[in-house]
Amino acid sequence: MTQNEMTDSEPGIDSQTTTTDEAASESLLGTTEIADDRGADAVSSAETVIETRDLNVYYDDVQALDDINMEIPENQVTALIGPSGCGKSTFLRCINRMNDLVDSARIEGELRFRGKNVYDDDVDPVALRRKIGMVFQHPNPFPKSIYDNVAYGLRVQNMDVDTDAVVEESLKKAALWDEVKDQLDRSALDLSGGQQQRLCIARAIAVDPEVILMDEPASALDPIATSKIEDLIDELAEEYTVVIVTHNMQQAARISNKTAVFLTGGELVEFDDTETIFENPEHQRVEDYITGKFG
Ligand code: ADP
Repeated sequence: MTQNEMTDSEPGIDSQTTTTDEAASESLLGTTEIADDRGADAVSSAETVIETRDLNVYYDDVQALDDINMEIPENQVTALIGPSGCGKSTFLRCINRMNDLVDSARIEGELRFRGKNVYDDDVDPVALRRKIGMVFQHPNPFPKSIYDNVAYGLRVQNMDVDTDAVVEESLKKAALWDEVKDQLDRSALDLSGGQQQRLCIARAIAVDPEVILMDEPASALDPIATSKIEDLIDELAEEYTVVIVTHNMQQAARISNKTAVFLTGGELVEFDDTETIFENPEHQRVEDYITGKFG
């Protein structure tokens, strides 16, 4: 499905948006605006979905990200790795403006989604989060049925779709359908941790996002459930752009196409093909981190 088809089929981004906000949201998502915004580097960055320019983030006086410049490619898995506290989650949360919910957070620089700075005044964060979904470390299904969890976003956003069909398709894409198809009315809280996480992925997929952000999505799961999530991420990248924070370097090496290494002070030290990062990194500090000499 092309971006235009998706945009054109949207009845309204969010029930709370005003007409002006809707227009702004459409422009956030529309291809014409993208081409204009990208300007001269439109060709060279044709497959870039997310791009940051001199992105700095502070929590009060503490700097969490230091001048991040990064281009995240479409339909690939980009892993963010680095020691605890180096800003990986902060970076992830900037992408769909989840940091708006943190009072002390202050953002400088630009973060572009399809060429449009998501921090521009005319961007509706709710519309943005529909296009850029998120899955958290601990599965957080609602205390509702399996069906209602997946249908939740469709209903809240009044999406004019065949809900049964979207629920089924989303559960299939999340590799959960075969396990739950005969018990869609069962409480989501009765599922195992791994199933709950795949349900949360189905819930994120249902509203038709382009990007899925994952913050250590398997770190609370057992090895078998982790392996299923890893296989699923691989499949998801055929249709979505996936950005994943992981503290597990083997996992990053297994599942990602690109790896960004953040080190102390919120510095992005190296960003390259995963193979290069793990086999022939440019920076000694990255090699030291990868080989376990610190971190
Ligand atoms: P990572 O994901 O790499 O562990 P974080 O992005 O969580 O790193 O944190 C980066 C820095 O920002 C740390 O110094 C952390 O203490 C700080 N930080 C993160 N979230 C908040 C917050 N909500 N309020 C204040 N400081 C925060």
